[in-house]
Amino acid sequence: MKTIRLGKTNLQVSRVGFGGIPIQRLTDEEAVRVVRGCLDLGITFIDTANGYTTSEERIGKAIAGRRDDIVLATKTGARDRATALAHLELSLQRLQTDYIDLWQFHGVSSEQAFAQVLGPGGAMEAAQEALQAGKIHHIGITSHSMDIALKAVPTGLFETVQFPFNFVTSEPAQELLPLAIQHDVGFIAMKPMAGGLLEKANLAFKFLLQYNVLPDPGIERLEEMEEIVNIVNGPWEMRPAESQEMERIRQELGKRFCRRCDYCQPCPQGIPISTVMNIRSFWKRFPPQRFFVGGFDQAITTAENCAQCGECETKCPYGLPIRDMLVENVEFYKRVKAQWEVEAKAS
Ligand code: SF4
Ligand code: SF4
Repeated sequence: MKTIRLGKTNLQVSRVGFGGIPIQRLTDEEAVRVVRGCLDLGITFIDTANGYTTSEERIGKAIAGRRDDIVLATKTGARDRATALAHLELSLQRLQTDYIDLWQFHGVSSEQAFAQVLGPGGAMEAAQEALQAGKIHHIGITSHSMDIALKAVPTGLFETVQFPFNFVTSEPAQELLPLAIQHDVGFIAMKPMAGGLLEKANLAFKFLLQYNVLPDPGIERLEEMEEIVNIVNGPWEMRPAESQEMERIRQELGKRFCRRCDYCQPCPQGIPISTVMNIRSFWKRFPPQRFFVGGFDQAITTAENCAQCGECETKCPYGLPIRDMLVENVEFYKRVKAQWEVEAKAS
């Protein structure tokens, strides 16, 4: 397995990582089998999050006895010191380890969240304490907001930045990635397959492997990782036909692809626009028990109150037809939910 240096952490990790969202959809046994299979394929970077329900616990079971061979990354969505410390203890317990290699502040995508993390009593204080105590070894940040990521990288406070990067959302190649390289901040490419919307792994990974970034695909089936590892081990050059195909998909998806940057907010109706815009991707990655109840369901209900004012569309830097897409995604959600309910009753 080829490797990559993860910026100033100096960690040398497999050329592709393992993202821990989709294993929530599996049974415990299946999840453990998939994680172990990926380790057997040579994967040494495992990334999860405190918020991914069963993911940490399953990874903990899978890596038992192999901890020292793995660079383990997890995240906390807490913004304050006390909650972050509680999350860290839980992560250590679930992952059955006494240290996290890379602890990341999860989804810091607004000025307010960024200020809270770095302010007095903020989550950064927890990270610094944990670093001193040896409970974590490195600190990173994840974000969907280009403004926040560009602000975070030069601070010197974060050793890695995790940001969406794939051939449809290729904006990081312009400024963020060069900035990260300049500051020796490791770049972890979130959503290399655009959150499950890109279907051709060869195109997605050949594109990313051109850059000094660590792709971090969410993996549900071992075959997915086998295919990716074959691409990593094979020739990376893009054939002309592949470049054309990539361009075709980019044109097709680019005008309808939500980056979850939330620049369209606030919505006067309180609609969590980016959640609804990405509902198909969440559907592919989250277990039905989580997808059809709680936050996603609530987001869809709220979206039904869209007043069609169009305010959001004036703020979206990518010119997405938000109103139309909200309607389509609400319809999609209702359809798959109805199917799920029928199947759940029948089983
Ligand atoms: S069009 Fe709908 S989603 Fe957009 S700002 Fe208006 S109410 Fe919110
Ligand atoms: S709709 Fe546009 S502005 Fe809103 S989150 Fe998506 S990409 Fe960003």
